[in-house]
Amino acid sequence: MIRFDKVTKRFGSHTVLDALDMKVYSGKHVTLIGPSGSGKTTILRLMMTLLKPDEGTIMLNGEYLTHEKKGDKLVPASDKHSRQIRKNIGMVFQQFNLFPNMKVLRNITEAPVHVLGLDKDAAEERARELLDLVGLSAHLDKYPTQLSGGQQQRVAIARALAMRPQVLLLDEVTSALDPELVAGVLDVLRDIAHTTDITMLCVTHEMNFARDISDCVMMFDAGRVIEFGPPEQIFTDPEHERTREFLSAVL
Ligand code: ADP
Repeated sequence: MIRFDKVTKRFGSHTVLDALDMKVYSGKHVTLIGPSGSGKTTILRLMMTLLKPDEGTIMLNGEYLTHEKKGDKLVPASDKHSRQIRKNIGMVFQQFNLFPNMKVLRNITEAPVHVLGLDKDAAEERARELLDLVGLSAHLDKYPTQLSGGQQQRVAIARALAMRPQVLLLDEVTSALDPELVAGVLDVLRDIAHTTDITMLCVTHEMNFARDISDCVMMFDAGRVIEFGPPEQIFTDPEHERTREFLSAVL
């Protein structure tokens, strides 16, 4: 579903990702862990085409996200091409980024109606189902500021799912929340991970959550994957000293 081939990303002279190869298979849940600054968020931002790689290619479900074919040449993707492929990706950010001037229901229907061209009634029906899934059916008529951070984040999850993406990217989605609100958001994500076939790529510091939902955990250090494997292996018997150090600091 996701394929990075030799992706390099630099900011000035700082190489943040260094010829990164990475594959995520359809329906799998992959968690990226590693020290702050190791390039995890940069990977998600490249997938959202908020950044462009300096070298290498990214593919989504067999199509180039970063490039397009012109004849038999591969050229950097136009914005139009990237937008088209990116429709298959939903992202939830640390700061929920809801539309503050729209009520909850409209936050969720806005993109399906205006980007996918879905009929308003169908979009509302789907939004109600999703609000039920995230436990917020009673709040559809409120504005984001009338909700707690945890509730806002659950609306953001429903909003991302409303586009029926093939891939859901989660970027430290509980980091901005008060501690007592974290569990509710993680429960919703566990439910989605266990009951849907969506591919998930997740950056998190919540190691118990990572252990519960991941098929694969990738440990990053300085822009490289230093080891990866099933959570039971990475969390209980990591190969690398760097992984052991990291886990003993966060667990
Ligand atoms: P992580 O998610 O693992 O904490 P990031 O991907 O956010 O790491 O960042 C990796 C490195 O890239 C950090 O050193 C960060 O300061 C740098 N970086 C990220 N975005 C930018 C940017 N837009 N301009 C300059 N440096 C950046």
